[in-house]
Amino acid sequence: MPKKKSTKLTAVKPPVVTIMGHVDHGKTTLLDSIRHSQVTATEQGGITQHIGAYQIKRNGGKITFIDTPGHAAFSKMRARGAQVTDIAVLVVAADDGVKPQTKESIRHIKEAGVPIIVAINKIDIKGSSPEMVKAQLVKEDVNVEGYGGNTPVVEISARQGTGVDKLLDTISILAELEGFTADPLAPLSAVVIESEMKKNQGPTATLLIQQGTLNQSDRLVALGAPASTQVTAKRLLSDQGKTITSALPSTPVQIIGFKQVPLVGTVFTTVGSGLTAPTPVAPAPVPEPIVAPAPDQPPVEVVAGTQATLDADNAVESPAASEVEPVNIKIILKSDTQGTLEAIAQNLGGEIEILKKGVGDVNESDVLLAESTGAAIIAFNVATPASVKKLAIVAQIPVRTYTIIYKLLEDFEKEVLKLLEPTIDEEQLGVAIVKAVFTIKGQTIAGCAIDSGSIALNSRIHFKRDKKIITDATVVSLKQGKEGVLVAKAGTDCGILVKPKLDIKVGDKLISYKRIEEK
Ligand code: GDP
Repeated sequence: MPKKKSTKLTAVKPPVVTIMGHVDHGKTTLLDSIRHSQVTATEQGGITQHIGAYQIKRNGGKITFIDTPGHAAFSKMRARGAQVTDIAVLVVAADDGVKPQTKESIRHIKEAGVPIIVAINKIDIKGSSPEMVKAQLVKEDVNVEGYGGNTPVVEISARQGTGVDKLLDTISILAELEGFTADPLAPLSAVVIESEMKKNQGPTATLLIQQGTLNQSDRLVALGAPASTQVTAKRLLSDQGKTITSALPSTPVQIIGFKQVPLVGTVFTTVGSGLTAPTPVAPAPVPEPIVAPAPDQPPVEVVAGTQATLDADNAVESPAASEVEPVNIKIILKSDTQGTLEAIAQNLGGEIEILKKGVGDVNESDVLLAESTGAAIIAFNVATPASVKKLAIVAQIPVRTYTIIYKLLEDFEKEVLKLLEPTIDEEQLGVAIVKAVFTIKGQTIAGCAIDSGSIALNSRIHFKRDKKIITDATVVSLKQGKEGVLVAKAGTDCGILVKPKLDIKVGDKLISYKRIEEK
């Protein structure tokens, strides 16, 4: 039980922590590391399952972690007027520094007025530089300790577990200083942080209690939704997969008993509590070009326990939208129920263009449409019959199957980011700047100066014009003077012939790269 602080029934509540930061900087590894070292060890026999959040015990209190990292969920909830985060842990990899999503995260955190703790991760990597990261953060107006500010910084290796205890202590201390409270006797206010259609249990959702106490068998209704949409919280499950009968503020609880999958960010209360809908907070303003929902998007269908009016504000921001041009990923979405279909469609970012959505297995016409439009097929909880699979293989249409909504959304978040920043999982090996173009025997030779690194024969290159990668090619001939060479190094000039033939102009760049293998 939380300690009572005063007679007004405001009680200290565990802080709710969201881990944010750039893709691949170690958010998931950190969440896993905390969960495994703290939860599994202390709760022997407990089933650790992903329900969207988990709690750990620390220094006589508790800490709640939202375990779907990334700021898409964060901003989406705020767009619906629900803010669950008390403390944001900003993860920055010491070997990579501040990146586009780091900046986006900072913007979201500041907009929400949430205190930050910086976790500089991957300090085990040789040559990584926490000091460089700190200096970069100061530039982004995150005034870290030791650099004239008081934003706590903890250096960690999520992979090795180094510094994670210190990070947890820092969270406890900050929470104590901030004094987060809630009233367990207030009308219930609980926000959906994750929802999915489960094969055997039907629609389930994880709610995080913000105020009041949720009890088993409570009649629940979404704020602003008609009473006819009420549902009974038939079964409550803890983050340990155990049946519980009640949940206090900051506790994540999975509820079984929904009629349809409720949207993330929906706030539920008990029927007759008198609680009214919150005012939605507009998402942080983003400079052009922001990818907003298509203007011709159909009106939002209300699924049990959701708010159509608030969902209309569901302007999902792309992680690095402020820095680059809008991109589009086309998909055909198939799902097991209408509710899931809408839940997925509403939670996908504006960069994802849904050409067709429907309930049922993937069929031939989906493949044909994908083939003519270049779309990918996404199958959520539905099958692809063998004959259709064959057709898709022949037509080289990717059919991606999912059973967990958050996984699907996370994959798309990464995919969009890669489109926005195609070089995200690459190492740059060398840059050649085109100084002159010659045509010899019908072949276009780029006379280049190697600006940095080196360019090797047979290497893959990005053909870049005006800061944009136009296409890729391979170096098939490399000459210095009349001599064919294997490598041309920085500071030298060379003639480059690439395949396929490109319309090369003076000022273009040829960038040699190699893909960083997923670890
Ligand atoms: P996320 O995208 O931010 O959730 O990043 P992940 O947790 O998936 O980590 C991305 C990659 O970095 C994975 O290959 C991890 O194993 C690796 N990684 C995470 N933390 C560390 C760390 O402390 N040290 C090292 N060397 N690698 C790490």
